[in-house]
Amino acid sequence: MNSKHDVLIIGGGPVGLSCAYYLLKSGRSVTLLDAKEIGKGSGSGNAGHIVPSHIIPLAAPGVVTSALKWMLDPEHSPFGMKVSLNPNYLMWLLKFTAACNEVNVTRNVKPLNDLGQLSAKNFAQIIAEEKFDCAYQEKGLLFLYKTEQAFHDGQHEGEFIQKHGIPVSVYDKPKLHEVEPAALDDVIGGVHFTGDAHLNPTMFLKLLRERVQSMGAELMDGTKVTGFEVANGKIVKIKTSAGDFEAEQVVLAAGALTPSVAKDLNLNIPVQPARGYSMTMSATKTMPSHALILGERKVAVSPMDGLLRFTARLEVGNYSMEPNPLWIRRIENAAREYLRLDEKLDVKETWAGLRPTTPDGVPIICKSPKHDNLVLVTGHAMLGLSLGPGTGQVVAELVNGYETAFDLSLLKLERF
Ligand SMILES: Cc1cc2nc3c(=O)[nH]c(=O)nc-3n(C[C@H](O)[C@H](O)[C@H](O)COP(=O)(O)OP(=O)(O)OC[C@H]3O[C@@H](n4cnc5c(N)ncnc54)[C@H](O)[C@@H]3O)c2cc1C
Repeated sequence: MNSKHDVLIIGGGPVGLSCAYYLLKSGRSVTLLDAKEIGKGSGSGNAGHIVPSHIIPLAAPGVVTSALKWMLDPEHSPFGMKVSLNPNYLMWLLKFTAACNEVNVTRNVKPLNDLGQLSAKNFAQIIAEEKFDCAYQEKGLLFLYKTEQAFHDGQHEGEFIQKHGIPVSVYDKPKLHEVEPAALDDVIGGVHFTGDAHLNPTMFLKLLRERVQSMGAELMDGTKVTGFEVANGKIVKIKTSAGDFEAEQVVLAAGALTPSVAKDLNLNIPVQPARGYSMTMSATKTMPSHALILGERKVAVSPMDGLLRFTARLEVGNYSMEPNPLWIRRIENAAREYLRLDEKLDVKETWAGLRPTTPDGVPIICKSPKHDNLVLVTGHAMLGLSLGPGTGQVVAELVNGYETAFDLSLLKLERF
């Protein structure tokens, strides 16, 4: 097969699907390829948190020290890393370590805030306009704390975020237990980002997949991109397991695998996987009424109508998508430290996914510096669902040559 296409998107995760939706809305024809299944990948089993409050990049002061401390307590550590001498991986670790400073935070708060606000607005609009039934709730994200030190640090971070226009409420112990009765008695306080939301990502991505198909997108599951041919600064051929394709414009949104997909493109895309796990169970007797983060343990909790999901762990450098039963058990144990849970949980699914992570913890959204018809979009780390609809809109604007909704210059690949 050698077929001609208008816009060809590689990768059907939350980012690629959102790009497809906004490109179709702008009048473009879209072909969406995925090596596996569109709408599954690393997005479907995630926590479903939509968090415009997350304006501090992953690479921030104190992160390396915390990571080292956690590694001394391997049973409870929310963080892990692969031991490898791969030069790309070692370079990534060095760059990440170097970026854990105030300068990186100050530089990136604005683009993360702009993208987060645009995405939150777009989520609400998609869900209302398309009538998606996906357990979407605008009840904020509530952090629970058991120790004075962590509660103090959480309030401090909340104050910083509030200064950037994001609503934050701090709850003392009585107020916290009134707001979230599922919390155990020894939870001492909470910080509530009231402008956040959550949904069931499995359902949202399934509905988005169906919607882009009904809008005319050609969807190709099980179609792996294996290489490219480039001539005169343009991609002229996309080689896949289903034959060769030609396209006016290419959007590369292959998540953590983007660097390997781009191997023929002479681009250095510094993205590493940060693996995490989830477990999903039937509703418990005392369901949490909010999306939560269990502060000290860094476990995310998502009530999703008849289901409850816990997600956790950030393991840098590991590409396997097999859930690790030991960590699934430890995540459940951590949740039991904060929440009233049934003695036996009715577990429906365990899952692992890869967060595509850049050394500064900020996405790459830009036109390729070397190819006239390529847009690069990856590196959304812990926020690929949350930032998906805003990313989709600005990618459609880039592809169409329109002015973008906000200044994307800090998200360019050339910053590395
Ligand atoms: C435990 C956990 C919890 C999380 N919780 C949240 C959350 O609450 N909120 C949030 O916003 N984010 C969350 N995330 C992060 C979020 O899931 C990711 O940021 C997101 O999946 C990245 O989206 P993506 O579309 O860029 O990549 P992916 O979801 O990885 O999709 C990329 C797609 O590209 C395809 N692909 C790869 N190589 C090829 C190839 N050669 N040819 C064709 N296709 C290819 C893959 O099959 C895949 O489907 C979480 C992640 C984890 C692991």
